[in-house]
Amino acid sequence: MNLDAMWMPFSANESFKANPRIITAAQGMYFTDNTGRQILDASAGLWCVNAGHGNERIINAVTEQAKKLDYAPFFNMSHDIGFKAAERLVEMAPKGFDKVFFTNSGSESADTSLKIALAYHAARGETGRIKFIGREKGYHGVNFGGTSVGGIGFNRKAFNHLLPFVDHLRHTLDIERNGFTKGLPAYGAEWADELENRIFTLHDPKTIAAVIIEPMAGSAGVILPPQGYLQRIRDICTKHGILLIFDEVITGFGRTGGDWATNTMGVTPDILNCAKGITNGVVPMGAVLVGNGIYNTVVDAASEKTIEFAHGYTYSAHPLACAAMIATLDVYRDEGLFERAAQLSPVFEQAAHSLQGTPFVKDIRNIGLVAGVELETSSAGLGKRAGLVQQKCWEAGVLMRLTGETLAFSPPLIVNEAEIERIFSTLGQAITEVANQEA
Ligand code: PLP
Repeated sequence: MNLDAMWMPFSANESFKANPRIITAAQGMYFTDNTGRQILDASAGLWCVNAGHGNERIINAVTEQAKKLDYAPFFNMSHDIGFKAAERLVEMAPKGFDKVFFTNSGSESADTSLKIALAYHAARGETGRIKFIGREKGYHGVNFGGTSVGGIGFNRKAFNHLLPFVDHLRHTLDIERNGFTKGLPAYGAEWADELENRIFTLHDPKTIAAVIIEPMAGSAGVILPPQGYLQRIRDICTKHGILLIFDEVITGFGRTGGDWATNTMGVTPDILNCAKGITNGVVPMGAVLVGNGIYNTVVDAASEKTIEFAHGYTYSAHPLACAAMIATLDVYRDEGLFERAAQLSPVFEQAAHSLQGTPFVKDIRNIGLVAGVELETSSAGLGKRAGLVQQKCWEAGVLMRLTGETLAFSPPLIVNEAEIERIFSTLGQAITEVANQEA
């Protein structure tokens, strides 16, 4: 196989070529690699294949849709499956979300949501609200808006010229006080007050358009909000007329042991972004959900018969993505996968936390069917030890996500107890082997 032509995303392209990992097929909980090995997918692809790989209902729906209508343009035109998909998503969205703007990814959802926030304030005559507040360690994809409000230093540092007028709150990771917490940590709700402090010391509140937050920061290594934190952020935003955006690209569709983190964590944003599990990873798609209040404000401000929101992608509401989405939501419902995630989460939690006391394990964090096991950084540098552990797990036939020093687990929601046990025992063994090598 010639590996020369593709510039791989978020990869160490050259070292990859020395030891390439090539996937050739996937079914259920397993990938097959190019040597024919079966690899247990403990990360649902990239947090997206929530119903497992190769689901026949989803594949058939996409195939049938391709035969019927492959593509249709927008500009005052659309197609039946687009409206049907939007209706389905609104039906299962948290209460208060009435309208869907379709995108093709989480990154596009992030930028779309920021533009909706600006358009909303402009429509109300508050054109001075142009600032965004994200968080350290936040991840909102790779487009310009998302990179700018994102707070993972590594993702920002090569791009000096990001959006101006962006500020970041501190993250909520506090291993000293909250180490090895199961579920939402007890300490740190007061960090939300940093938003209020920043508003008064650095910003006029009337200049801030939106605060964007992942209810659970996934890409930074499964960082959960302390109990009460999100509600305090919500209250401060409401008090100052600032829109609150939740980026539920990972947490949506059952990951946190319920349909949305908005519901499992009991705090409702003004704008909700999603992607990934929306189509089970079969066809790219994302969406931004808003209530009628935001939609009507933007639409009513436009003069009659004009385009109200000058934004959209060639593939917004792509018919194949819509077909995949409807079938995916059918599968989640008919197979009771969100309920299954909730039922299995204590087993998952126990298996993850059984690694407490294993060499180098610095913290374990979890909710629903997602967990992060953070290792101490070795003298070789950030992520080197965790990278070795991940490689050993891969060799033992288990794939998880590596993010900094954290090994992140988010298996498809069809995972069973034996597979959960295998995932964490493989990890334990890999860590022990690395510890023995270092000794
Ligand atoms: N937002 C969050 C919270 C994510 O985790 C991700 C991807 O991991 C994105 C946005 C970007 O999504 P995509 O890679 O589909 O653009």
